[in-house]
Amino acid sequence: MPLRPSPKLKPNLWDGLVALLVAALAVGCGALLFRERGTAEVLTAVVTADGETVEQIPLTDPARRTYTVQSCGHTLLLAAQAGEIWVERADCLSQDCVHTGHIARSGQSIVCLPARVIVQLEGGTADGGVDAVIG
Ligand SMILES: [Zn+2]
Repeated sequence: MPLRPSPKLKPNLWDGLVALLVAALAVGCGALLFRERGTAEVLTAVVTADGETVEQIPLTDPARRTYTVQSCGHTLLLAAQAGEIWVERADCLSQDCVHTGHIARSGQSIVCLPARVIVQLEGGTADGGVDAVIG
């Protein structure tokens, strides 16, 4: 009986360690995915007017829908469909909110300063990047 482990046993042991490491990584990634899904599942447009949340629009419906938001004497017409939202019409002077165009990623936002309206995207497949457009 050899006292030292045979050279053949070494790679097996190493393989076992690597397999264990891969398994641990897989579990870690799984937990991370689960956590992200748990916090935010559906891409949602949160509309605030003068600091108050007036609409929470889940962007899941493929049919185009419009929402009228009135704030600070201004009227904004928002249009939304699956995965994106935009300001279709606004009576503010700058029209920057209209020119911002469509937003479709979590963290993006449309801001209308004269009307004090903010449209912020939350949830969905968050990439961590905050991409705010102020207008
Ligand atoms: Zn505007």
